[in-house]
Amino acid sequence: MEKEKLFGKTLNELIAVTKRHGMPGFAAKQLADWLYKKEIHSIEEMTNLSKKMRESLSSEYDYGLSDPVRSAESADGTKKYLFRVLHNKYIETAYIPETNRATLCVSSQAGCKMGCVFCMTGKQGFQGNLTPNEILNQFRSIPEFTKLTNIVFMGMGEPLDNLDEVLKSLDILTSEWGFGWSPARITVSTIGLEKGIREFLEKSRCHLAISLHSPFAEERQRLMPVQKSNDFKSILEIIKSSDINRQRRISFEYILFKGINDSPAHVKELARILNGIRCRINLIRFHPVPGLNLVSPDDKEIIRFREALNSKGIVTTIRASRGLDIQAACGLLSTLELNKS
Ligand code: SF4
Repeated sequence: MEKEKLFGKTLNELIAVTKRHGMPGFAAKQLADWLYKKEIHSIEEMTNLSKKMRESLSSEYDYGLSDPVRSAESADGTKKYLFRVLHNKYIETAYIPETNRATLCVSSQAGCKMGCVFCMTGKQGFQGNLTPNEILNQFRSIPEFTKLTNIVFMGMGEPLDNLDEVLKSLDILTSEWGFGWSPARITVSTIGLEKGIREFLEKSRCHLAISLHSPFAEERQRLMPVQKSNDFKSILEIIKSSDINRQRRISFEYILFKGINDSPAHVKELARILNGIRCRINLIRFHPVPGLNLVSPDDKEIIRFREALNSKGIVTTIRASRGLDIQAACGLLSTLELNKS
């Protein structure tokens, strides 16, 4: 039978583990040190625990790291890793090096139930929620682990649809007893689930990115069915009425689709609905997905859209496209792997 994994447990969970194994009170902190501050791979290597304690732990637990099953490297240095989770499902993790930073894009679910029409992961359907072990293993088990400066929860799945596990992962990433990362280096990206956003703002200090993709409700609903039950106007009200700390960045993600959401009317409406919110917009080029006739505007049109928004006072950036030669659109690589099995 498969053993439980220690890696991915919070300090409170480790306290419960040590109590059950008759270990002293300070052992939970020692365990957290071995799991999140040292680069070991087995319980056997936890040398400040007695042999008896290590044997007792090993009877019930594995350390809990697992290597990616495949990787692909782009000419621009971007790497995509494929991890096996949930007994033969696959998730993708992207490592994106830049001059002054190295970002990891992690998945929070295998597949996704949100059904955004432009998304390959959405087409896979929902296959399961990832545990903190599976979320954090993506970060800890890649060769570039020590080079990472930023993490974005923007891979497969909707993080706020798996909020308890994502919050535990953030706790481990940002706590003193955990990896000790600053919340300012972590961004959680959501399609915009009202209940989840409220809870996230209460319980986490990490940055929040919200996928908008259109300032018109009907058009947004055609692109993102979630709009029907989670109107973006309510999301904006939540943001406006929340006491957002200045350290926390709120951004809106906006994938540009040629002839659909890239007109001057869209610029005008975006400026109107975001008026009074301290935020920025990230424009994203659409990466082609097989079987879809959506296309991205060209670079000139994207720059024009950005300038128009900037001139309305909305800080707007264009996300650089990376990894185009290794299935850049999220969900493509894992779909290829699923189709093989
Ligand atoms: S864009 Fe995000 S929320 Fe929408 S289907 Fe894809 S993974 Fe799910």
